[in-house]
Amino acid sequence: MNAPATGLTPAAFDLDAIRAQFPILIEKVRGGRLAYLDNAATTQKPESVLAAIDGYYRHQNSNVHRAVHDLAERATTAYEGARDRIARWFTVAREEIVFTRGTTEAINLVAYSFLRPRLKPGDEILLTGMEHHSNIVPWQLVAAEKGAKVVAAPVLDDGALDFDGWTALLNERTKFIAVVHVSNSLGTVNPVEKMIAAAKARGIPVLVDGAQSVAHIAVDFPALGADFFTCSAHKAYGPTGFGCLVAKREHLDAMPPWHGGGDMIRTVSFEESTWNEAPYRFEAGTPDMAGAVGFAAALDWIESVGLDVIAAHEHQLLVEGTALLAEIPGLRMIGTAANKGSVMSFVMTVGHAQDIGTILDQYGVAVRTGHHCTMPLMARFGVPATVRASLAVYNNREDLEQLATALIKASRMLA
Ligand code: PMP
Repeated sequence: MNAPATGLTPAAFDLDAIRAQFPILIEKVRGGRLAYLDNAATTQKPESVLAAIDGYYRHQNSNVHRAVHDLAERATTAYEGARDRIARWFTVAREEIVFTRGTTEAINLVAYSFLRPRLKPGDEILLTGMEHHSNIVPWQLVAAEKGAKVVAAPVLDDGALDFDGWTALLNERTKFIAVVHVSNSLGTVNPVEKMIAAAKARGIPVLVDGAQSVAHIAVDFPALGADFFTCSAHKAYGPTGFGCLVAKREHLDAMPPWHGGGDMIRTVSFEESTWNEAPYRFEAGTPDMAGAVGFAAALDWIESVGLDVIAAHEHQLLVEGTALLAEIPGLRMIGTAANKGSVMSFVMTVGHAQDIGTILDQYGVAVRTGHHCTMPLMARFGVPATVRASLAVYNNREDLEQLATALIKASRMLA
């Protein structure tokens, strides 16, 4: 994993100092210590992000754009300043950042505004077998309407993409490719650079679902070469319900609006309306200004720690955690790909994931259980659900030991 080109020197890594910045980590759960290992679902927020959101509402809040009074100007400056900051993160122009409610809305925007008008009967949309439902269902909806088809590339037994199988599915009917950067269920890091190169050779546009990568892997959008990249602030130490679509300007300029309302228009009459330029054409209605400010603060925070430092720490925990889990009888890890992010997904012979998760909770261990919005992937592995422990920069060895100890207790209780 590469370090971001931040220009900042990461501070020396002091895990206790990092943890101290996350007030929720000292919260008692079930009367005891919290081991928060549900970071792939959502991360916790540092003081600086909380302060940025609080500060926005205390000192800057008004509605954005068309500002004539001081507070409206402050709100607009904060909101558009956040766009500049987020654009810098991805090395793109500010016009290439569309604010959305998160990854789900960003993918839907591309499905409806970019792909739908181009899709013809018989066309194919190529996905992989490890996609999140939000990177499956929007494509299915537009495909069903247009008589097109969604095709999914196979996943190998270790959870890696079957790249040859994926390549074999590329053909003249392939109109669009969407792929998850890092699998939320398995942690698999997909070879997106290779996939984009293969797609480009055939002139096929590519969307990368970066929901699980943005807080772990540096993404330079032009260098990546994708047409679209989507992310959610809440998985990167930022607020919930906010995210963005990063897109090539030429695409956004050519895309019709998909939500109608205030801010997305240039002129409106009862006979006809005309549209604002991108990205505003895609941001109808009063936006989530505090969300934008919070996301920008979250990226500042990640940069101050250093994405390379974060990735190294998480990798170390992944290695240690995997070793601890390997000692637990009857535990089977699902997803052991060589290139893997900070997710440990597993099943146990003693019982259903749901029961194990419920017992873990009694010992203060927060994990996610279920299909993780990847039902086709669960079917591929022949399991209804897994227990998923997922890591963030503030996790420590104690969290892993708390998980392992609770799993041993769960094994005894369910045996
Ligand atoms: N894709 C992946 C890989 C995800 O992990 C998630 C969230 N679990 C999403 C998409 C959807 O993100 P959001 O709910 O923030 O829109």
